[in-house]
Amino acid sequence: MSEIRHSNGFHGIDIPSDDIITNCMHCGLCLPTCPTYALTGREKSSPRGRIRLIKSVAEGKLEMSNGFIDEMNFCLDCQACETACPAGVKYGSLVESARNQIRLQDKQSFGESVLKKFFLRNVLSNPRQLKFVARMLWIYQNLGVESILKKLGIARLLTPKLARLQEISPRIDPQFFDEQHPEVIRPTGTVKHRVGFLSGCVMNVAFSQINEDTIKVLLHHSCEVIIPKQQVCCGSLQAHNGDFDVARELAKKNIDIFSEYELDAIIMNSAGCGAMMKEYGHYLQDDAEYLTKAKLIASKVKDISEFLFDIGLKPATDAFRHKVTYHDACHLVHSQKISAQPRSLLKSISGLEYVELNEASWCCGSAGIYNVVRYEDSMKILERKMENIEIANAEYIVANNPGCLLQIEHGCRQHSVQSKVVHLSTLLKEVYQI
Ligand code: SF4
Ligand code: SF4
Repeated sequence: MSEIRHSNGFHGIDIPSDDIITNCMHCGLCLPTCPTYALTGREKSSPRGRIRLIKSVAEGKLEMSNGFIDEMNFCLDCQACETACPAGVKYGSLVESARNQIRLQDKQSFGESVLKKFFLRNVLSNPRQLKFVARMLWIYQNLGVESILKKLGIARLLTPKLARLQEISPRIDPQFFDEQHPEVIRPTGTVKHRVGFLSGCVMNVAFSQINEDTIKVLLHHSCEVIIPKQQVCCGSLQAHNGDFDVARELAKKNIDIFSEYELDAIIMNSAGCGAMMKEYGHYLQDDAEYLTKAKLIASKVKDISEFLFDIGLKPATDAFRHKVTYHDACHLVHSQKISAQPRSLLKSISGLEYVELNEASWCCGSAGIYNVVRYEDSMKILERKMENIEIANAEYIVANNPGCLLQIEHGCRQHSVQSKVVHLSTLLKEVYQI
């Protein structure tokens, strides 16, 4: 990989060298792993095709056209191509840099620009704003407005997009996770591990129960859990959508806050957040003040499955006699290379019948806000996942990412699949009956 700096604004990103492009032409190993290539069969919608497009635009040989922008947005940033690539092409960084340029050159569509500027910059990045918007949404979802609009079919009639958004949106919690807990929670008995916990942005307001379950599992494993009150969103959605400035600011805040504590690990229960925090060193590589601290914090970040695998899962008192399968969240399997640990934990549970899901690491189509901004494509990608879920015929589908849980639940409703779609922490809470 060679770094090329060009006047058109692609500063500081690694553009694959001409040698890699030549190798790509003879290789193509990533193509069968790419959901958008599988959908279209088009070279330009494959990783190899997009790499060529990015290189051509970065070198000024191609305009940043609407077609180019569409290909960058069509990509799920699932990073399956990175796992497949024998040459180690860092595709995820390339596409994120391209999206950053699209944003900087103000080439986004009006709708996307509003969504990204308003939602990612001003809402997710600011805990107070996020809570305000979440409370408004809770009122909409719970005081009859949503159900009246649904019954009358008004939302579908006026804005089909809004109606679809309702179907894939999380339900807002009546009480937010961070408002129910002190900063430090101690287990009964001896403390064996002292861990930090990222309560997240959307996780904090819409997935409180998964956070609760994760804390219970950690306490059950003799962990003292620190949940810093001043923590902020990890910055992953902003980074994946090319808003590096905001992502770096959020990263710095979290680095400062988590650095205040002596921690054995910082626990994540969302694959996207874990992948982002493990990359803090990468995003702050040019920041002399933060780089060392960023690397230290990143080295402590562990997905809950990774952490429990390392410390050893406690045996349960009673057998858990259920059939369970596991879906690999992209940002766990491809970004963090975590796939053996959750499977090993599940298989070690007494009584549990583990069934492997075909194409478990094929993206479900959720991909951050992809299912919001490209709903139709996202649903086509979900179809392939649902075919495999129906074959697995499991009572529980486990996934360690909130976006995957929502997307697969949506697929299960559409396909009348009765399986429970749960986070690993929720399953473990049931296993331990805690
Ligand atoms: S990140 Fe996923 S969707 Fe994008 S090119 Fe790679 S495999 Fe295809
Ligand atoms: S696997 Fe790597 S080297 Fe091969 S075509 Fe894809 S990006 Fe190029």
